[in-house]
Amino acid sequence: MHEFSLVSSVMEYVVKTAEAHGNRPVEKVSLEIGALQHVATEALTFAFDALKKDTVAENAVLEWRITPACIRCSSCATEYEPSDAFWVCPSCGAMGGHPIRGEEFLLESIEITDEPSSDTPA
Ligand SMILES: [Zn+2]
Repeated sequence: MHEFSLVSSVMEYVVKTAEAHGNRPVEKVSLEIGALQHVATEALTFAFDALKKDTVAENAVLEWRITPACIRCSSCATEYEPSDAFWVCPSCGAMGGHPIRGEEFLLESIEITDEPSSDTPA
C-alpha cells in the first residue's frame, strides 16, 4: 500500500524527533501532501493508526493539508492546475507536461507534549 510506505517513513522521523526531545509523547503530526500523490485519506489514517502503536506517537492525531498540483506545459510552458488525471494545457491544448508542484509528501510539523520543567519558568 502506497500510503503505508509514505506514513512509515514519516513515523520513523517522528519517533526519532520525539526521542531527541526526551521521549515526550507526540500530540499531533501534520503533513503536507501534494495532490499528485493521490493519497487515499482513509488509507492514510489507517496506516498512521497502525504504525503509531507502541510508539511515543501512540496518542497523536494526524492532520494533513493537500497542496494543489501545478503542471508546466511542455509545448508552451504555461503553468496550470490540472482538473483531473489528464493533463491538458488550457492555453495550447497540448497533453502532458512536467509537474512542478503536487508530488510533495512532507512532514509539516510535529507537536510534542510540553514537559513540566523546573528549569524554565512558565
Ligand atoms: Zn501549452
